[in-house]
Amino acid sequence: MSVVIVGGGLAGISAAIALQEAEVPVTLVEARPWLGGATHSFRRGVLSVDNGQHVALRCCTAYRGLLRRLRTDHLLDVQDRFDVTVLRADALPARLRRAPLPSPLHLLPALARYEPLSRTDRLRAMRAAAGLRRLDPRDAALDDVAAGTWLAGRGQGPWAREALWGLFVTAALNAEVDDAALGLAAMVCRRALFGRPDAADIGVPAVPLEDLHGGPALRRIEEAGGTVRLKAKVEAVTADPKVVVDGAPIAADAVVMAVPHQAAARLLPPEALPEPLRWPELDASPIVNVHVVYDRPVLDLPFAAAVGSPVQWVFDRTAVSGLDGGGQYLAVSLSAADRWIDVPSAELRARFVPELRRLLPAARRARVRDFFVTRERRATFRQRPGSGAARPSAATRAPGLFLAGAWTDTGWPDTMEGAVRSGLTAARLVRRHLEGVRDR
Ligand SMILES: Cc1cc2nc3c(=O)[nH]c(=O)nc-3n(C[C@H](O)[C@H](O)[C@H](O)COP(=O)(O)OP(=O)(O)OC[C@H]3O[C@@H](n4cnc5c(N)ncnc54)[C@H](O)[C@@H]3O)c2cc1C
Repeated sequence: MSVVIVGGGLAGISAAIALQEAEVPVTLVEARPWLGGATHSFRRGVLSVDNGQHVALRCCTAYRGLLRRLRTDHLLDVQDRFDVTVLRADALPARLRRAPLPSPLHLLPALARYEPLSRTDRLRAMRAAAGLRRLDPRDAALDDVAAGTWLAGRGQGPWAREALWGLFVTAALNAEVDDAALGLAAMVCRRALFGRPDAADIGVPAVPLEDLHGGPALRRIEEAGGTVRLKAKVEAVTADPKVVVDGAPIAADAVVMAVPHQAAARLLPPEALPEPLRWPELDASPIVNVHVVYDRPVLDLPFAAAVGSPVQWVFDRTAVSGLDGGGQYLAVSLSAADRWIDVPSAELRARFVPELRRLLPAARRARVRDFFVTRERRATFRQRPGSGAARPSAATRAPGLFLAGAWTDTGWPDTMEGAVRSGLTAARLVRRHLEGVRDR
């Protein structure tokens, strides 16, 4: 029995390791020269740079399980308790920190003191939060509604939607609140903000992503006897099933397609695809990271959010990147970045360097030593109303061909947690399929 997995992102890696743990031999085929997919790193002079800042919450249990298998779980710095400083120009920073209270009371004191909102808005936000908590994210009707429309109907004006809900929903769904699917937004809020009190504690990688995921995964899969083929772009997949790489077919008892939805639609045989094929509706949504290296420290926090500013979240990358010599390297992470994705780097510099000076007083005296931009045009699928119905389950119409990927129907947004869950689900279905093949 052998299984070929196409795509070495977190979904493909998770599927491969789960199958190896069940003693199924695997071949992982990846087009790029590394594993890790949408989570990778590159060198820029002395800096080790990630393609985009990634964070995971304590409630991302499947993802953290993968890190344990890769023996890198100690390299994700998870806060002792959820604590976010919210920067504002011309005002002192605000703070959202969980209190040592049972859920859902643990965030109430922080919300009651959240200064960017007026007292009336804070009361309204508490009422909206209670309503959100009562929603059932599995209710298919929520998929057709925009989170912003629902929140507006509960007294959340544009400023409350931006300065409170946007902080979390935009980062988690890579969509503006007004464009985000309510079902997924409710799922994230329920799980992270109203679930276990420690669910939203934020974890930030202490090493470049390649040392957290791709490198350790390659070693782990090969040590367990698996074959990893890098720089091997799959050209087609047949229903028998076979995977064609460099013109040569590889036969398998099952194939897991852990590639983005556009590639899966192109590569799979028509008899495996659903009719009608709704995957193109999933589309893509960009993320841009603006990287600024200063000659001195300007932010004395590992990360902060910002409101009333194009800066959404800013992270201190100094130690992770290997920068030394007294400077500081910040990465500004911009989700739902349609308005920034095609803006030239010089214009982004002219917009964001002064903006960071407005938010961070210490940056006013600092010199910018380096500035660059990373752009991920297809960072996630577009998690807008209606997108849930277009997400497929892991089984296809062809027995022996399975899907994985953060875009499949995991119940989670397009995140590392979703990717890992999809890989585990595909591995479960593959094992069941192989048992059937064996019994025949
Ligand atoms: C900039 C950025 C920031 C993000 N921030 C966060 C965050 O903070 N928290 C979070 O949880 N998530 C975040 N995400 C989302 C997260 O990275 C993804 O949801 C997840 O990594 C997707 O994993 P995947 O395995 O489903 O897909 P991918 O990582 O896209 O993997 C698919 C793989 O298939 C390969 N492939 C494609 N075609 C072929 C072919 N023909 N033959 C062989 N291989 C092929 C690709 O090269 C790729 O390696 C972010 C994403 C980006 C881009």
